[in-house]
Amino acid sequence: MSARGLNGIMIRDQIYAELKQEIAALSAAGIRPGLAAVLAGENPASQIYVRSKIAACEQLGLGSWMVTPSAAVTTEEMLAIVMELNAREDVDGILVQLPLPAQVDTKRVLEAVDPAKDVDGFHPVNLGRLVSGRPGLVACTPAGCMEILRRSGVAVDGADAVVVGRSDIVGKPMALLLMHANATVTICHSKTRDLPGVVRRADIVVAAIGRAAMIEPDWIRPGATVIDVGINRITDSAEAERIFKYFPAKLEQFREKGSVLVGDVHPGVAEVAGAMTPVPGGVGPLTIAMLMSNTVKAARLRRGAHSVSKNAPGAAAAKP
Ligand code: NAP
Repeated sequence: MSARGLNGIMIRDQIYAELKQEIAALSAAGIRPGLAAVLAGENPASQIYVRSKIAACEQLGLGSWMVTPSAAVTTEEMLAIVMELNAREDVDGILVQLPLPAQVDTKRVLEAVDPAKDVDGFHPVNLGRLVSGRPGLVACTPAGCMEILRRSGVAVDGADAVVVGRSDIVGKPMALLLMHANATVTICHSKTRDLPGVVRRADIVVAAIGRAAMIEPDWIRPGATVIDVGINRITDSAEAERIFKYFPAKLEQFREKGSVLVGDVHPGVAEVAGAMTPVPGGVGPLTIAMLMSNTVKAARLRRGAHSVSKNAPGAAAAKP
């Protein structure tokens, strides 16, 4: 068997097409949704992430702003930046790019963001809404995983779902979203006993671990759906040879570039699973798409406009 590829780029493009309609309707009502990103310091990976988020805003015609305090910024200064953005009428979404410099109290800063503008879904108010199944802004990566499942026609209702990873930004909200969509959910972590045995029971596996190719083909029940959230860059040639032994195109890529991306799921799982997200091109594109979707949603809710589409992006995350 070779798994159906769940193409994140195609799904992102569908979502963007729908968002463009929403944005045009808001524009007709005199509303231009806008996202402000706060990027403290000069972490190269964070700069790339923030630039790609701003580029997505520009592609969709959303307003966007970047606030770039130095790496020496204090907690008080970060709080002042957030307060100013909270007060601005034209800013619908506030994104505080993590990690913040070590001297900054990250929790205090994230909790200072107005929950109505918390497009990352990290504020305790939005987490509380998610726990109790009330509408709110949901963390982008798990919301994106739900869109992949929904738009690919994967049956979640009644399914056995196993989420490997329990982080606040991926594993926990993912498990809650699956539960609200009526899956029977098991959450696994580094202390789980017989992880392969638990994963083998799943109809749907979500891997959010941060360990290259950890989930092996013989952990997967034949025909299961596998969502691979992990993004790991391999730079060691022995590791690349081991993981991609039967994937010559990937090995070629590694030899050319000196590195290659792999998820938390071994590529050989595609021979056993019924459907699977690739890395790259699976969950990754959905994370930014859902950030855009949350910004439009925040603008609609905060400024009292109505959705133009019953099928609006984020509907999968808005259940029940
Ligand atoms: P994280 O905060 O480091 O959490 C990792 C989780 O995996 C923890 O709950 C940990 O368990 C568990 N874990 C670690 N080793 C394990 C093992 N040997 N067996 C079972 N569980 C184990 O990571 P994260 O932020 O959730 O991110 C996870 C992965 O997703 C990373 O590769 C990250 O780069 C990727 N990611 C991708 C996107 C995207 O847009 N595609 C977005 C966010 C993250 P404990 O709690 O017991 O320590």
